[in-house]
Amino acid sequence: MEETKKVGKALCMYSGGLDSQLAICVLKEQGIEATALIFTSPFFGDSSQAKKSAEALGVPVMLVDFTDDLVELIKAPKHGFGSCLNPCIDCHARMMTRAGEIMDEKGFDFVATGEVMGQRPMSQQKHALIEVQKTSGIGDRVLRPLSAKFLEPTAPERDGIVDRERLLALEGRNRKPQIELAKKYGIKDYPSPAGGCKLTEPQYSSRLRNLMNNEGLDDKRLIRLLNHGRVFRLPGGTLVFAGRNKSDNEAIRTGLRGPDILFRSFTVVGPSVLVVAPKTEEDIVLAQQICASYADHKGAAEVGVRCFKPARKPEDLKIAVVDRELLIPYMI
Ligand code: SF4
Repeated sequence: MEETKKVGKALCMYSGGLDSQLAICVLKEQGIEATALIFTSPFFGDSSQAKKSAEALGVPVMLVDFTDDLVELIKAPKHGFGSCLNPCIDCHARMMTRAGEIMDEKGFDFVATGEVMGQRPMSQQKHALIEVQKTSGIGDRVLRPLSAKFLEPTAPERDGIVDRERLLALEGRNRKPQIELAKKYGIKDYPSPAGGCKLTEPQYSSRLRNLMNNEGLDDKRLIRLLNHGRVFRLPGGTLVFAGRNKSDNEAIRTGLRGPDILFRSFTVVGPSVLVVAPKTEEDIVLAQQICASYADHKGAAEVGVRCFKPARKPEDLKIAVVDRELLIPYMI
């Protein structure tokens, strides 16, 4: 009787970038059932594009919140940081560990990634790829379809779930082969390979370090708000968020909690300003000035500012506009 080949199930670590899309295409081409695993966190920005591109490839999507993992690693990075507040070595291994746990829990045969050997100077050298397999505990159940021919055969290849002959031999920084493959598979939308993690951005990292040294990193709401608008640390130690646009303002308004105050300009278009548990009267006055002075006041001397406190009736105030130059030193 003819033996039916087992259909392999791959859990594909997925960023939405071209390489992770290609890894899925290469596996699908040989009949593997692929699922896109997308790690989410406020450090990675919006995951909706990645989700959309995975759906366009016709594969199921699994979104997994990675915030707690990253916060823990930022607080105590065993292998230190990269050029900003990015604990890349630990983060990479932790992602692999989490993927391995999900693989076991949900009955996948192996984990796949879109890594290309030698594409990044440190993390994608052969020894680094092997090291991550060891430290994450996943061993040889991780397959890199794009560079597999340069690497030792993995468990799914040995078990006959994946045909090694149909895997690829890409390496290095030249993106031409990937662009050609994108044409072959009809992939049109993919972000630039560098984009994504805010922990690699100097300005974001400096804001996050400021938060870590003051309020700490346990309040995810504050971590999320660091992505919105202008952020100030006032002389009394109070943290203030001021929106730059409609979506910032909406995010900031939903951040209001017990001891906080929210100011909104109501006579002209302007920012929503969240004052996190104000510490001094002087800080409250400065926050009101931020609200009035960053509003579209068109040279007026005063702006109407509405003050909101949880479970209290809003109060209307008239606040004097000050020169923004006086507020810039408090910006973080
Ligand atoms: S760039 Fe960000 S997401 Fe990527 S490994 Fe580094 S810390 Fe993790």
